[in-house]
Amino acid sequence: MDQERGLRAYEWGTGILGAAILVHAAAVRGLDQDWLLVTFWSLAHLFFADKGVLLLPDVAFIPGYPITIAALATTGLAGLAPLVVSSMIWNGVCKGRSVSRIAFNIGHIALAAAAARGVAILLWGTCRLDHPVSPQGLVHGLVIVLTFHAVFTAAHTLHRYLRDPAITFHLRLGRALARSLKAFVPSYYFFSVLLVHLVQTGGPIAGFLFLSAIYALWQQFYLVNAYREEVRKATTDALTALANREGLERSLDIMLRKDRFPVSVLFVDIDDFKRVNDTYGHDTGDRVLRTIGTLLRDFVREDDVAARWGGEEFVVVLWRTPLAESFQIAERIRNAVRSTSFPEGVHISVSIGCAAAYAPDDVSRLLSLADSALYRAKGQGKDRVFVAAASSRE
Ligand code: GH3
Ligand code: MG
Ligand code: MG
Repeated sequence: MDQERGLRAYEWGTGILGAAILVHAAAVRGLDQDWLLVTFWSLAHLFFADKGVLLLPDVAFIPGYPITIAALATTGLAGLAPLVVSSMIWNGVCKGRSVSRIAFNIGHIALAAAAARGVAILLWGTCRLDHPVSPQGLVHGLVIVLTFHAVFTAAHTLHRYLRDPAITFHLRLGRALARSLKAFVPSYYFFSVLLVHLVQTGGPIAGFLFLSAIYALWQQFYLVNAYREEVRKATTDALTALANREGLERSLDIMLRKDRFPVSVLFVDIDDFKRVNDTYGHDTGDRVLRTIGTLLRDFVREDDVAARWGGEEFVVVLWRTPLAESFQIAERIRNAVRSTSFPEGVHISVSIGCAAAYAPDDVSRLLSLADSALYRAKGQGKDRVFVAAASSRE
């Protein structure tokens, strides 16, 4: 409870201090602002607050952060006030954060910006970047970004620490700084400096065009990820996480273009599975299916495919595996199923049909051959492997 109270006090304290800094800056600077630019940064910040993009491989970054730095470096601390209000709207309306958390969010942006401004003024008399892409401007920009980042991260880390003091503050801070300095601070830095340069040379219109390009990147990133996820869902069986029939067909298409003959197929069907459902219920049936799925996945090599054909039927594709070898693998699978302990102590056995293709022309008949072999294995009494005309248990 004390912990909770301490956290709230910290959130309110940061918020009040940050608000005081901004109000003071706005009062001192008065209306001496480039309002077009101030409005542009605020709207850009509001719009980009949740849009992460990839600028470097595997490094996602959110443009809202460098937009804040660019606003500080062009409009000063006073120009940040509307941006902070836009952040408040984002956190309150869109994310539904608590009031004290909103206070903290605006407060720690203001504190980090005030610290960056203070250091820049101490060193150079101003925090404005007048020539951002000159060697001197690049150094100034770097100092501003690093100071902003250090205070921003420290404020966040203290927040995390107050919520969960199990890990020490110093350790957390060290880790957070190391991770961010390596991962995204370099791109934030270049992005901020470039934004300032563009806005100074081309005005908000240049900044707008640049941010539009970032928006297009974000959309692509988002769409590509969404597409990948859809493909994954469409080709994966939700229960067992094996490939489904569509996934199996796709991998067959891809792999058959490579010369990997002979290819063998095992058609695996659980024996008397209806009885398992009837006796133990559907949930147990599902758990049995999942266990079989895991077992089959463990049996195949990386390139091979284990798929759920449907219901309690599975298909395994083994590349560069002649029929005799696939028969041995099928036997191993059959024995492994028999010796696996299933939920509720259910005893499970499987019947397997094997077939092999030695050339591309044989492939179309492969599945139906394996299916016929399976049918014969069932007819011969189940719990056995059948290859063409011969059964393993005959
Ligand atoms: P056989 O030995 O001849 O293969 O008999 P069987 O009972 O295994 O085969 P049958 O085709 O008669 O029944 C298959 C059963 O598989 C019927 C169905 O309820 C069950 N089943 C199919 N899909 C699922 C599933 O996703 N979850 C569960 N729990 N059961 C399923
Ligand atoms: Mg069955
Ligand atoms: Mg069946």
